[in-house]
Amino acid sequence: MLRKLHGVRLPHAKATAHEPFTALPIPEKVLIPLSMHIGTPCTPLVKLRQSVTVGECIASSEAQFSADIHASVSGTVTAITDYRPARGGVCKAIEITADGEQTHCPAIAVPTYTDRTSFLEALRHSGAVGMGGAGLPTHIKLNPKQKIEQLLVNAAECEPYITADDRIMQEKPEVIIAGIRRILDVLGIPACSIGVENNKPEAQKKLRSAARSDPRITLVPLPPVYPQGAEKVLIYHITGRIVQPGQLPADAGVLVMNVSSICFLEEFFTTGMPLVSRGVTVDGECVEKPCSLTVPIGTPVRDLLNFAGCDFDRMARLISGGPMMGMCLPNADYPVTKTMNAVLALGEAPERTVTNCIRCGRCIQACPLRLMPTELEKAYDRRDAKALRRLRVDLCMLCGCCSYVCPANRNLAASNALAKGFLRKEAGQ
Ligand code: SF4
Ligand code: SF4
Repeated sequence: MLRKLHGVRLPHAKATAHEPFTALPIPEKVLIPLSMHIGTPCTPLVKLRQSVTVGECIASSEAQFSADIHASVSGTVTAITDYRPARGGVCKAIEITADGEQTHCPAIAVPTYTDRTSFLEALRHSGAVGMGGAGLPTHIKLNPKQKIEQLLVNAAECEPYITADDRIMQEKPEVIIAGIRRILDVLGIPACSIGVENNKPEAQKKLRSAARSDPRITLVPLPPVYPQGAEKVLIYHITGRIVQPGQLPADAGVLVMNVSSICFLEEFFTTGMPLVSRGVTVDGECVEKPCSLTVPIGTPVRDLLNFAGCDFDRMARLISGGPMMGMCLPNADYPVTKTMNAVLALGEAPERTVTNCIRCGRCIQACPLRLMPTELEKAYDRRDAKALRRLRVDLCMLCGCCSYVCPANRNLAASNALAKGFLRKEAGQ
């Protein structure tokens, strides 16, 4: 039985739900960051002017908590440079000038495995990371110490505009189900639930049909409420289990995987090709032809926007991801990464006058984690670290539901983001 979910109903604006994936023409150059995952950044394995082929490992790390990086185009390494990700920090990036041939690496072979350890080892070298946004290396995610009772497939895709997962489900349902079965078999997980929102009827139908012969797999239709796809929200909604503060989903006996990540995993184990491309939704009011594109990792966002007929003069906001939790890109030269599921070209934001809080309580009602955004805002204004800790600002996932419903237009989620930074500074991190 589905539980009552706090959150908000957003306009879907999913203009690309019926736009099949099209391969973007190979870019002239790609810039591949060496940190597109949670964990240790990779170090380059290639030198300047070296020739590389598609799928060749170009950067790696000895650390277990990392994910290899592979060339997404064949060509020549023309720069190894410092790169500043939009989320902050700095890492190295490798620029490859494409030769247009897309020659595959001769070392690529279908991986073999005999048990869980060799399965995870193969995956470790695939470059797989969570493609839904977080970027946790998949070989780490699939190796919990706790006993897992259920695999949850996150196919909610609850933000407006984004349809990359929806398109994958519509176009490759059998591949996804084969990937789920492979994970259940290798890891000995007895059951799987696929959570798909009701605004994706075609995906629901195709997945249900592909899974009908396996009683371990159940499709769970979900109401299209944001943030349905947030990990803890999805776990609660499907299983009723609560992941306590400081715990991982595995502590609640579940393992959550994004649907595109599962699709990649299955394709890797049937072709041997590492993670070198991904599906990206290109949309927004400044785009003439919203589209679903398959894109080599490292392609400049500008190439995607040009393909979609973007009006650059009108574009005032460029977002990687969704409008609620996505990240602003300072310019269109940023490259597509393993976790970038959408690029949105938006105009000027409407003017919003911020007024005093009228204590209506809507922000509290909307918060999926039952936090008290209005009290958190006041605590941050006072720089009251003790109150911020007591009110559990650390749990805030910055989903923006509170800001969205506030009639006084208060920037509650932004205030929480600043409060989290303030607490980290207080703790000397
Ligand atoms: S941004 Fe934080 S406080 Fe606001 S609704 Fe989301 S989780 Fe709750
Ligand atoms: S929704 Fe806005 S006005 Fe209402 S209590 Fe929260 S902060 Fe105050």
